[in-house]
Amino acid sequence: MRDGPCDHAAPVSTTSRSGPLSAPSTTAPGPPPALRNGLAALAAALWPVSCAACGAPDRALCRACARPLRERAGSRAALAGTTAPGAPAVWATAAYEGPVRTGLVAWKDRGRADLDRWLVPALAEAVQAALVQGESLVPDRWAVGGSAAVGDAGTVLLVPVPSRRAAVRERGRDAVGDLARGAAGLLRRRGLPVLVVGALSAGRGLRDQVGLDAASRAHNAARSLGVAGRAGARVVGAPVLVVDDVVTTGSTLAEAARVLRGAGAEVLGAAAVAAAQRRGSSG
Ligand SMILES: [Zn+2]
Repeated sequence: MRDGPCDHAAPVSTTSRSGPLSAPSTTAPGPPPALRNGLAALAAALWPVSCAACGAPDRALCRACARPLRERAGSRAALAGTTAPGAPAVWATAAYEGPVRTGLVAWKDRGRADLDRWLVPALAEAVQAALVQGESLVPDRWAVGGSAAVGDAGTVLLVPVPSRRAAVRERGRDAVGDLARGAAGLLRRRGLPVLVVGALSAGRGLRDQVGLDAASRAHNAARSLGVAGRAGARVVGAPVLVVDDVVTTGSTLAEAARVLRGAGAEVLGAAAVAAAQRRGSSG
C-alpha cells in the first residue's frame, strides 16, 4: 500500500529546475531527466491526456476529481490535525483521500507536472488560510489585499519541505519547491507578502516515507533535516510557514519546525495541498 508521495529531503540546486526542453544538467547514466521531461511533454502534445486520478479522457484532471482542490471565493482550507508530537498547526485545502490522493501520487511519482495548475492554487489557498484564519499567529498584519509589501517586516517566508536529492534528480525538478513558488506568486498578486526560501536541507539517512507506518515515519523524520547554508540565515527572527504537498502524521513537519526554530525562525504553522484525516491509525 502506498502512503503517499512523501519522500522528503535534500537541498535542490537551481540547475535541476530546468524547463522541459532545456539542456540536461546532470551526467547520470541513462536519458537525462530534462530529456525525459522533454519527451514526456512531446508525447503529451501528440497524444491526448487523461485524468491523473480516474483516467477520464481529455483532461489532466477531470472536473469531478478536481472538485476538492478547486478554489472558491475566500479561503476554504481547514485546520488539519496531525498525530506527531511537536508538529505545528497545519492548514490543508483537501483531504488526502480518493482522487486527490491518486492525483497527488501521479503528480509526484509519475511525472504529472500538468497537475500543477490545480495544485498551485490549492496550496495558495492553504497558505492564505493559515495566515488569515490563524490570526492569532500574526495579528493585524494579514488583511487580504492590504498594502504590505515583500521585504516589509510582515513578510512571511514559505519554507518548502525538501525532497531527497535522488528524487529531485529522478523527477527532473523540485516538485514541492515549484508548487511553493507558484503559490507565492499567486498570493503576492493578492497582496500577501510571502517569499519562498529554501532554508531546509536533507540529512543523508532519510528514507522514502512511502509505505512507512506512523512510528517508522517519526523515526525516519527525526534528525533528517538540517538548515541549508546561507538560505538558513534568512529565517533568523522571521515568521515562517512550512509548506508541503501532503501531510500525513506530521512527523516531517515536526522535524522541520524543530530545525527552523533552532535556526531562530518564528514558525507560525504549516500549509499543504492535502492532509490525511485524523482518524484510525492511517499514517
Ligand atoms: Zn477524474
